[in-house]
Amino acid sequence: MFIGQAASPGYVIAKTKLIVRQKVVVSQYKISREGTANQIDFFRKGIMQVKREISNLRDVTLQTVSKKDSEIFDSHLMILQDPLLIDGVISLIRDERWNAGYAFHLKMQSLIENFENSEGILKERAQDLKDIYNRTLLCLNSSESDFALQEEIEEAAVLAGFSIGPNMLMNFEKGKVLGLAIDSGSVTSHVSILARSMQIPAVMGLGNLSESVKSNDLLILDGTNGIVIINPDENDINKYKKQIEVFQNQKLELFTMRDLEPITMDGKYIRLNANIERYEEASEITSFGASGVGLYRSEFLYFGRNALPTRKEQAEAYGKVVNQLDPLPVTIRTLDAGGDKMLSLVSAEVESNPFMGWRSIRLCLDRKDIFREQMKALIEAGSRGNLKIMFPMISSIGELEKAKEIYEECCAELKAEGHSITKIELGAMIEIPSAVIIIEEIAKRVDFLSIGTNDLIQFTLAVDRSNGKIASLYEPHHPAVLRSIKSVVEAAHKEGISVSVCGEMAADPLSTLLLVGLGVDELSMSSWCIMECKKIIRSVNYDEARAISTEVLGFSDASSINSFLKKKYSQKIKSLGISSFITAQDFSSRDRALIKIDDEIQRIGS
Ligand code: PEP
Ligand code: MG
Repeated sequence: MFIGQAASPGYVIAKTKLIVRQKVVVSQYKISREGTANQIDFFRKGIMQVKREISNLRDVTLQTVSKKDSEIFDSHLMILQDPLLIDGVISLIRDERWNAGYAFHLKMQSLIENFENSEGILKERAQDLKDIYNRTLLCLNSSESDFALQEEIEEAAVLAGFSIGPNMLMNFEKGKVLGLAIDSGSVTSHVSILARSMQIPAVMGLGNLSESVKSNDLLILDGTNGIVIINPDENDINKYKKQIEVFQNQKLELFTMRDLEPITMDGKYIRLNANIERYEEASEITSFGASGVGLYRSEFLYFGRNALPTRKEQAEAYGKVVNQLDPLPVTIRTLDAGGDKMLSLVSAEVESNPFMGWRSIRLCLDRKDIFREQMKALIEAGSRGNLKIMFPMISSIGELEKAKEIYEECCAELKAEGHSITKIELGAMIEIPSAVIIIEEIAKRVDFLSIGTNDLIQFTLAVDRSNGKIASLYEPHHPAVLRSIKSVVEAAHKEGISVSVCGEMAADPLSTLLLVGLGVDELSMSSWCIMECKKIIRSVNYDEARAISTEVLGFSDASSINSFLKKKYSQKIKSLGISSFITAQDFSSRDRALIKIDDEIQRIGS
């Protein structure tokens, strides 16, 4: 049994298909003098990653096979520490200016040749070098397109593997993917967000699960508690069969919330919007009780295709959503590619720090051709309903002004072409600490603000949101995050504009109440979470929530904030029966997890 992060709720018992790395083609190019430090850093990080993978393999082999078999991996680790290899590659990067992958290829080829031409033990070691060569090159050339299914997926299955990106997941035929069991990633990785929106149960950050599972193994995947059991026994299968039934009933029960208003007991209305990734989702959001779309991640329209979507295609897709939901508001975010949403049609370059790299609004302001096509499509769609546009990753007034200027220019050009233009509200996403610091200036220049807490937490705390290893440091209730949110709310209200939270935090029960108490006007989340969120909002008093949040702002560390919030709210949340859809639980052992499931079955049964 493996324990990972509960990334998308639900339970599956099904056969698995493995996602594997494809054979790599070594890319070869010269780099600039300024680029050498970056490539050396990239090479060192790649070696570290491979060492981690090999150490994991050694540990698994030691536990499950024998000490003798595990020793081969010790010798692999020694090779990866050999200065002859490491310094040799670094000097090829620095002196010859080869990219890291090619420099490594050159050095390893000469070492392998030397070993093969020797006698005895050295000759035998050539195979070890080849293994290391393959593993490391895969890492130095890694991008989403390097992963593929080991064999065709005929029947629906759970996918297991080291990594999967949103692009790959979107390419599967509907219904073929029953679940995801992935070694890397975390709850706020975009593939997890997509899995939630597609209602595919997922467990991320499973470490080395993919080394222990084979295609066609039977898996139990518990996305609610973050558990994967490989080739389970009858007992586990029966427990989980019951749990699947319980889960289906809970889902049905929730629909009683659909038409109720999201208002607190003392009458404060909190708008609950849906986050969507695919335009087909729009037709479903009202059946989950949403009052509009708070975040449409438009980049998903660009994925899984051979060419960028044309303006006409985009205008049709956006227009359809806007028109379908009119008069409800639909907030479409302009292209936010990059980070863990690589758009190979625009850039195939592997960056050493992609989340802080050439992405999002930066990419759009450099590639104005792409940005203007999208902007015109959005403006055209605006005439079909209540559309708002928001710009992601704003870090300065300059970026915001440039984006707004492009909007104005596109409006003028469309007008000249004879289109009728309706005024569209423009907003900024606040997800970078610099934007929080200059929030008063930003608030003066926009019609609304939306806080992207997924990125804001990552950048405020310097914790990579998709790195499962440091997930415990990714703390939404860190005082720095909460005080940032508070100052954004104050700046927005001072200018008389609304503020929303559209990061995953909005749908975590304790955070929901905290955000309501901090004065946030709207929350936007996966459609499935809206009904439970309504339940929570309807159970509290706004004045009380405000008092609790104000008190929390005086705390200096996240752990005391968490204990305080639990003390104040846990009982209430428990009594509402909130459990399955929006809470992620931490389990350190199989037994605790299964006991929790037994309890749940008993609770529903009685
Ligand atoms: C966020 O950063 O909180 C957000 C909503 O945007 P994304 O998750 O797509 O980066
Ligand atoms: Mg973001």
